[in-house]
Amino acid sequence: MIVGERKPFEEIQSLLRGYKKILLAGCGTCVKVCFAGGDKEVAVLASQLGIANNKAGVKARIDQVTIERQCENEFIDEAARALNGHDCIMSMACGAGVQMLAARFPHLPVLPAVNTTFLGLLDKQGMFLENCQGCGDCVLGRFGGVCPVTRCSKSLFNGPCGGSASGVCEIDPSVPCGWQEIYDRLKALGRLDTLEQTEPPKNWASARHGGPRKLIREDNIL
Ligand code: SF4
Ligand code: SF4
Repeated sequence: MIVGERKPFEEIQSLLRGYKKILLAGCGTCVKVCFAGGDKEVAVLASQLGIANNKAGVKARIDQVTIERQCENEFIDEAARALNGHDCIMSMACGAGVQMLAARFPHLPVLPAVNTTFLGLLDKQGMFLENCQGCGDCVLGRFGGVCPVTRCSKSLFNGPCGGSASGVCEIDPSVPCGWQEIYDRLKALGRLDTLEQTEPPKNWASARHGGPRKLIREDNIL
């Protein structure tokens, strides 16, 4: 899933300064699961803004809506119905959701309330780990299901660097060495032999270094 975290309250206040009719738009998918921008976080932010505005004597209307998936146009009709009379939308979705709303409502400012951080998973309660950089040419099948691009701090493909010690990465002792994880996983699978082959240089043409990417599925085009 896409993992994000809510921006600091002061930054949100600064983005909203001057707007009097604000629609807070949450997203019911990834950012809800990582507690950054679902319906509960929308309600908390609305309440924080209300209290801060009352204290400062600022008069502003703050309404709420949570869209099942902000990155899909068909779900945005819900927001369209709630939009009447607002002078800005603050989106609590990931960057894709914010841009989808901005494209759908070009006459309205659409502001982000969340910092989109990475593609990852819930490791344990309250801790999310990055495990995919969307490189467009997945090599997990050759590395025991552990991503060398993401889980190794240097994105090494042919074994660990000289700094790997006691299972942790030299970059940060709180980070497990991705190559230790690859080795342990392949050992458990009885597939350590795959490490005897030299991995050729990765073709990064499918990654994002050439600019924004697109995926075209001819079979899905109407
Ligand atoms: S190899 Fe690429 S697509 Fe596969 S998990 Fe790693 S970054 Fe993601
Ligand atoms: S210590 Fe391990 S994870 Fe860190 S850069 Fe070296 S090989 Fe990669």
